[in-house]
Amino acid sequence: MKHECANSNEKNDDNISASSVITSSILKRTEKCSRLKYTKSQRDKSSANFCNEGSLNSLRKVPQIFKKARQEKRNYLLEPEAKTVCREYGIPVTKFEVVKNVDEAAKCAEEMSYPVVLKIVSPDVVHKSDVGGVILNLNSAQEVKDAYKKILENIKKHKANAKIIGILVQEMAPQSTEVIVGATKDPQFGPALMFGLGGIFVEVLKDVTFRIAPITRQDAQEMVTEVKAYPILKGYRGQPSVDIDAIVDILLKTSKLVMDHLEIKELDLNPVMVYEKGAKTVDARIILE
Ligand code: ADP
Ligand code: MG
Repeated sequence: MKHECANSNEKNDDNISASSVITSSILKRTEKCSRLKYTKSQRDKSSANFCNEGSLNSLRKVPQIFKKARQEKRNYLLEPEAKTVCREYGIPVTKFEVVKNVDEAAKCAEEMSYPVVLKIVSPDVVHKSDVGGVILNLNSAQEVKDAYKKILENIKKHKANAKIIGILVQEMAPQSTEVIVGATKDPQFGPALMFGLGGIFVEVLKDVTFRIAPITRQDAQEMVTEVKAYPILKGYRGQPSVDIDAIVDILLKTSKLVMDHLEIKELDLNPVMVYEKGAKTVDARIILE
């Protein structure tokens, strides 16, 4: 059985905040980019339409999560909180549950079905895999228990007095094409969305697209088709196309989320695994103002 300790040193993309590249690039592009077409009044109107569709549930639960983070003097959400926010907006995320001891972890994994992933949940750990806080591909109760202990050990080495909320057990999403959906607040234009493929595409090639939120379905479709790596999404050399509509759907829902909650300063869905049918967010990060 292979346990993979997710390691950002090997996967540098993971350390990059997808949204961190937005601000500089968006300002560079703004003058010439005809697609940044929303005026403030258009945005207000469009946002109003979006808001009317919001479910009462999401209107209540999401601010509660933000409030709790603030009460705990955090300006960022923990992964389970960020994923709950995403889920409230219909953005597909892995199944997950926070547990507090090894037995709970094993029980939860059995119920979730293998393979699973374990991750640290701590306000003192932002880049989890940098400190051995993510262990992938666990296939039995024993492996889960061992991984649970290993993560705690790793975190203690990193920061002896790290506050530990629990361990996140989540389904392991099958490997696939990884994309990134990001959002940030541009000082001049407000919330803006970013899309790109994961790994070297975003980090080295900066092959990403942007739109000022809120976006229309057509904007979202254009965002996907205009990245240089689009042929990879469409399938090449006999590879099937990934589910472009699923990406478009995530972009639209993310747009709605950041427009409904202007206190979101940055959002990173990094990575989102995209399949022939459907997509799944495996890590989510939200920073509040
Ligand atoms: P970090 O806080 O270091 O960004 P992540 O939660 O993104 O930690 O995990 C690191 C990497 O492990 C991810 O980029 C992804 O490749 C992989 N990974 C994490 N969670 C899952 C999952 N549920 N299913 C499949 N792969 C995952
Ligand atoms: Mg990540």
